[in-house]
Amino acid sequence: MKVEFGECCIELVQGDITEQKVDIIVNAANSNLAGGGGVDGAIHRAAGPVLMQETNKNHPDGCPTGQAVVTSAGNLNAKHVFHAVGPIWRGGLQGEEQLLRSVYQYCLELSLKHHCESIAFPAISTGVYSYPIDRAATVSLNTIKEFLSEKQIPSLVRIVLFSGGAYGAYSRILEEMAL
Ligand code: ADP
Repeated sequence: MKVEFGECCIELVQGDITEQKVDIIVNAANSNLAGGGGVDGAIHRAAGPVLMQETNKNHPDGCPTGQAVVTSAGNLNAKHVFHAVGPIWRGGLQGEEQLLRSVYQYCLELSLKHHCESIAFPAISTGVYSYPIDRAATVSLNTIKEFLSEKQIPSLVRIVLFSGGAYGAYSRILEEMAL
């Protein structure tokens, strides 16, 4: 589904983020940028070794939670990959919501710096990091909507949901927001 906010839109698709053709693909990385399973493993496998070579060289100390670092996109159909570090869910009282909000904001700001028109996010923190999917959908969609309403760029923000359940949760919340 697709909802327009002025000149921009938020689009939800169910699928594999490595197959998207957009300016920026966002990876859900860990703070050591050490590689892992889930979407991180899929992105590194599909993109090739250049991503890890660049993070090792340029970001040997990793990346703080709530922020992101940039690499090239290797074999992916994109200009850059943003390796974004979401919070680990620890019950909701450890600043998780603010950190999740901040990781989306950080990536959107970074997309402006890199003059990009389109960006695809996975559902950051909702896998191994256990952030509840409904809460993650509310925080991420509201953060993106506020950003687009204010800046009117990037023109396309796509969220790629791997499972039907995640797609259902995000679409229910986006529908409510669009009313
Ligand atoms: P985190 O550690 O931030 O929770 P995960 O990779 O474990 O990161 O999961 C984040 C989300 O990405 C989960 O909802 C998971 O189902 C989803 N995911 C896993 N593989 C892919 C993929 N290839 N494309 C898009 N989303 C994916």
